[in-house]
Amino acid sequence: MLRSQHVMVRVDLAAVRSSAKAIRARAGVPLIAVVKADAYGLGAAEVARAVADLVDGFYVFELAEAVAYDLRSTGRRTLAMQADSQNPDDYLAHKVQPAVWTPTAAAALRRATPVLSIDTGQQRFGVPVADKAAVDAVLAAAEGTIVEAFTHATQPRQAAALATALRGRVPKLHAAGTALLEQDPSAALDAVRPGLALYRGAVRTSARLAAVADSAGPAGYTGFEVARHGVILAGYSHGLRAGPCVVNGRRSRLLEVGMQSAFVECAAGDRAGDEVVLLGDGLAEQDVAAAWGCTPHEVVLRMTGMGERTYAAAH
Ligand SMILES: *Cc1c(COP(=O)(O)O)cnc(C)c1O
Repeated sequence: MLRSQHVMVRVDLAAVRSSAKAIRARAGVPLIAVVKADAYGLGAAEVARAVADLVDGFYVFELAEAVAYDLRSTGRRTLAMQADSQNPDDYLAHKVQPAVWTPTAAAALRRATPVLSIDTGQQRFGVPVADKAAVDAVLAAAEGTIVEAFTHATQPRQAAALATALRGRVPKLHAAGTALLEQDPSAALDAVRPGLALYRGAVRTSARLAAVADSAGPAGYTGFEVARHGVILAGYSHGLRAGPCVVNGRRSRLLEVGMQSAFVECAAGDRAGDEVVLLGDGLAEQDVAAAWGCTPHEVVLRMTGMGERTYAAAH
């Protein structure tokens, strides 16, 4: 996606910090902050620095991300799902612990204190929780270096399956991303590992009306009909889709999205230069996701990628 120079993306690091504090207080266990995909587009380096003192560590998809975001400089450890290198020194150099789910990887990466990844239903990136022999083989290959196991789960029963299989064998277990935290706080086990719950409400994306006019009959490519419409200079090349927005404090709609511009339904008092809020000001990730037919995670990614990011300081 392209970033539009006409879209403003405001990241509120203080909001990320207060979410981190609230999650930690509610769960009562250490927090592992998920900062994969550049912290869902908020900026992993900035987010990591803003919450470093509140977290036990970070989670990324692959080693290269931990390097790119310089997570080592926070002093915290990072868990990486993909063991892209079979050389433990590559992980040790960046304070990264690789997830492992095969005896081969567990043996090769012993010195990097690998973390056991258990599959409780997703059927990717993990040892099947019901396959005790396979779990035993990975633990044996690691020769006692595995002291932490996790699963990527959305259902409380998956967290329970992890605990049933590994409680007493691996000291630290964690399962909970945002979906689990919302459903059942006891699914937290020994640590929580949210992404979305840290970032929700921390992004405000907006553009200004480049032009506003009373409509003269059907307009745009699709011939939509409204009394008055405006145009913003952001479109689907920037990741925008038709859906809700806020104009002058009032809920409105993006009627039609073109490649680099979009039509906005306007009211009598709306003028060129007025702000169109695409996310924020009471318009939540979940509202946009419902209109777009996607996850709130994807909304955060698209909204943070639409324009140049600026930051409200953490403290
Ligand atoms: C992305 C991810 C998370 C965080 O998920 P959210 O729904 O954003 O909280 C947690 N664990 C793993 C393994 C992930 O890949």
